[in-house]
Amino acid sequence: MASILDIENLKVNFYTYEGVVKAIDEISFSLEDGDTLGVVGETGCGKSVTVLSILRLISPPGRIESGRILFRGGGSVRDLVGEDEEFMRDLRGNDISMIFQEAGNALNPVLTVGDQVSESFLLHRQHELCESVLSRLYASIEARGAASLFLRLATALYRRKLKKAEHNRLKYRRYGRLLRGEAMDRSVDLLLSLGIPNPEQVVRRYPHELSGGMQQRVVISMALACNPTVLIADEPTSNLDVTIQAQILRLIEDLKERYRSSTLFITHDLGVVSEIADKVIVLYAGTIVEYAGVRELFKNPLHPYTKALLRSVPRLGNRERLESIGGSVPNLVQPPSGCRFHPRCPHAMDICRREKPPIYHGAAKHLVACFLYR
Ligand code: SF4
Repeated sequence: MASILDIENLKVNFYTYEGVVKAIDEISFSLEDGDTLGVVGETGCGKSVTVLSILRLISPPGRIESGRILFRGGGSVRDLVGEDEEFMRDLRGNDISMIFQEAGNALNPVLTVGDQVSESFLLHRQHELCESVLSRLYASIEARGAASLFLRLATALYRRKLKKAEHNRLKYRRYGRLLRGEAMDRSVDLLLSLGIPNPEQVVRRYPHELSGGMQQRVVISMALACNPTVLIADEPTSNLDVTIQAQILRLIEDLKERYRSSTLFITHDLGVVSEIADKVIVLYAGTIVEYAGVRELFKNPLHPYTKALLRSVPRLGNRERLESIGGSVPNLVQPPSGCRFHPRCPHAMDICRREKPPIYHGAAKHLVACFLYR
């Protein structure tokens, strides 16, 4: 399968008063077309930094030190690390959209839901809205017959205004009372398709008037408004109760089928990843320790860290005491030498303390960074 996104040797550092935090240490992976790739790991392992790097949203004191982020959208290949801010602004939302972790924080508390969802349409799908408004106006002229000279004139003027303003977003939007109406209609349709009851009323509400699950659906609708090629979901269900979590996961799966987007799904929850992902990468302290298909990873975990993670997940019917992973996540200002997991690994050898383990290839496209598989 062709890949839509290739991350190659990405390295990200943060320059703090305590020292240089080596947050991401030369990671490489690919997101294949139409796939859902789960990214799992403990808090602080670099999941969110990875996706923020893809969108080039790492701000000082953080910096992408090296590596390439190749995006193969629209028939061309672009290295996002070298692109200017204008290109990235167009890309965010249009081609790559993100569902943020905290729906409550992602929404603007002083704007109605309708204003926020339709803003996505107005920013990214202006041309489409414009065409739709004009065709409605023409249809209305046809219906009234040739006698409606005034309406013909008004439509011609409107078209001129839109054309003139096409290069200037602000003007375009100022002239676009009809465009805003069209964007609002589409927002209502989108919310309805995401299973929100009474969307005509919901668009008039403010975020605080909605439940957590409803807020997350609104955030998802904003991410989907422009039909992105790649959807990044950063722990979208972390603060929801289990029933709402299941609904949101089902919704994301349905949407993947409907929009044929490729999805990067960030989570610390292995249960969630088993439900939604096709393939999984396991991150530990800014490094990728394992990559495999989701069934293969759960059936045959190779890396000691992945095995320990799986042993710490509660299973139905299992009455054994759950194991925790000894030790704690390392300080990334001075990460452990060699394998970053060695201070917590029960199998650590001398070589693990000296050298960084390379990637070893197992069966069924299973990759693992561990000297046990030399
Ligand atoms: Fe453990 Fe060594 Fe494998 Fe790291 S490389 S996980 S320390 S055995």
